Amino acid sequence: MELRFRQIHLDFHTSEDIPDIGAKFDAEEYASTLDKARVNSISTFARCHHGWLYYDSKAFPERVHPQLANKNLLNEQIEACHKRGIRVPIYITVQWDHYSSQRHPEWCVVNPEGKLAGTPPYEAGFYRALCVNTPFRDFLKEQTREVLETLPTDGIFYDIVMTQDCSCWHCKQDMLAQGYDPYRKEDRIRFAKEMLDGFKKDMTEFVRGCGSDCAIFYNAGHIGPGSRESLDAYTHLELESLPSGHWGYIHFPLSVRFARNLGLDFMGMTGKFHTSWADFHSYKNQPALEYECFNMLACNAKCGIGDQLPPDGKIDQATYDLIGSVYRQVEEKEPWCRGAKAVTDIAVLTTEEWMGERMPPATAGAVLMLLEGGHQFEIVDSRSDFSPYKVLVLPDRVPVNDALRAKIEKFLSGGGKLLVTGESGLNPEQTAFNLDLGVTLHPNPTRDLDGNLVRGKVMPRGEYTDFVLPRGDLAKGLPEVEHVMYAKGVEVSLAGGEVLANAISSYFNRDWRHFCSHQHTPSSGEVAHPAIVRKGNAIYFSHPVFSLYRSLTPLWAKRLVLNALDLLLPEPLLRHDGPSTLQTTVNEQKGESRWVVHLLHYIPQRRGEAIDVIEDVIPLFDTALSLKTPKKPKSIRLVPQNREIPFEEKDGRILFTVPKIEGHAMVEVTY
Ligand SMILES: [Zn+2]
Repeated sequence: MELRFRQIHLDFHTSEDIPDIGAKFDAEEYASTLDKARVNSISTFARCHHGWLYYDSKAFPERVHPQLANKNLLNEQIEACHKRGIRVPIYITVQWDHYSSQRHPEWCVVNPEGKLAGTPPYEAGFYRALCVNTPFRDFLKEQTREVLETLPTDGIFYDIVMTQDCSCWHCKQDMLAQGYDPYRKEDRIRFAKEMLDGFKKDMTEFVRGCGSDCAIFYNAGHIGPGSRESLDAYTHLELESLPSGHWGYIHFPLSVRFARNLGLDFMGMTGKFHTSWADFHSYKNQPALEYECFNMLACNAKCGIGDQLPPDGKIDQATYDLIGSVYRQVEEKEPWCRGAKAVTDIAVLTTEEWMGERMPPATAGAVLMLLEGGHQFEIVDSRSDFSPYKVLVLPDRVPVNDALRAKIEKFLSGGGKLLVTGESGLNPEQTAFNLDLGVTLHPNPTRDLDGNLVRGKVMPRGEYTDFVLPRGDLAKGLPEVEHVMYAKGVEVSLAGGEVLANAISSYFNRDWRHFCSHQHTPSSGEVAHPAIVRKGNAIYFSHPVFSLYRSLTPLWAKRLVLNALDLLLPEPLLRHDGPSTLQTTVNEQKGESRWVVHLLHYIPQRRGEAIDVIEDVIPLFDTALSLKTPKKPKSIRLVPQNREIPFEEKDGRILFTVPKIEGHAMVEVTY
């Protein structure tokens, strides 16, 4: 299904201790405010995290919000929006439901200590997880049926559908019946994931069985490799990622580059809040909201902004003035975004599949470096097709089993290039390299005083580290001197590769017996082992440069990687002479025979202790760009302004200058 471009996710988790819920709701004011802000889709509430319903339920009258002044709140919201052509998917909470968890402890997730998971009884909050492997699922189906039968339902947004480590009676019985050992955490998590995937399929079948072809989405706050198994149950994807909430500014660029290759239409979801959900009476700075929405467009996502309706049901004008100021611009940009697909050079094989983290430091570090370097890239997993890419990056911690090795060797034999760093490329047992990178593993790697391997670990005072001495092409932009790597590289010996840079050891490692000054011991000048090695179409870095960049951001780590990429990819799709804060994407609209280049210049700054803000738009002037295009364009224009940009062709690249980038610029390249 195709999503709309300008959506709102309207929360309405509303306490029963507030009077007159929805009393000031005015359907006409509500819908006309949305329309004026150019909103054309809004997810709206049937059941909230408090567990209350916002319609006049006949099946569950005891669950209708006890202070609901307008029993037809949801119906009137839908009706007024439909009159104006605004879509209204319906929100139904799943695992967080205060009403159910209080009255049905037997429906709750039981943790391995035998306690009910989540918020304890004498703390504020509704974060007790319900187990969908209990009769709670039957309730959920009956409530869904009532929604489908009594309300015009464009879609259902099932919220909080996450893998839970549950030891309830139902889960334990099913684990035993299916041959899992509930005593083992790995087994419990594997069962929980499979059970949850089955739940989603079951719910989607149930909705279809009710005769509805509505949109369906299950939200876990993240889309990653683990989303693949249940993808059939979804009609589209929504990428919840509030940069001023705990997601940060790097989550969306990472997750969208994976999600957009799963074959479903997708939207971003940020918030209008200064911080995160339910930050009432707060407003995001307009440039920040612009950046977040325009970045969605640049990454080919439809836009989504989160809000929460005040308890009295009166829609907040200031919020929709803010949203309208951005969505009016989105509407103008849409013709250059509809049906667009990313054009990319590089695939980063995310470590999420092995490490389980939603934002693995290695993958996040790679995203930062590639964005700052102006590269065009996707995030892939071991099941992705590598063939569309010129370079495959294995950041820091990608174990290579025989199946993955065969796939990578096929990619290389088709002319692909490989950039491998840190412990990537080792077999899953970490006993040897399972790729021919021109190096072998030292038999006796350095260990700490407790006998643990130290390679790749950044320690508080640089206890174990070495230095890289760049030379030649790899040293571009760097002095040819030792640079600290804050961790020890993987100790390797040369085996047929060409050394591009060596690792230099310190005088000694820092421990109780010997140490020097406040941090790592300085360089002894002695070569320890090769640090960067080239063999055929592959370059190997022994240091975890991407995780390192994510944690401490040494410029030299990025320069080394970008210089190595220059060797592997001498003609990248795009180059620019702008600052590292300029973000670029290249998209293709096949039907229109054109590329659209997005240029974004917004600078998140850590001003508060816990929040990145964007307050100002800092324009860029006369940014020179070059593109490696498949053929000579007919015209290059700044859109939607429709302003012609002169260009020339030189050495197989198209060169042009964008006079001014004020936040976001789109350049249309027509063939
Ligand atoms: Zn359970």
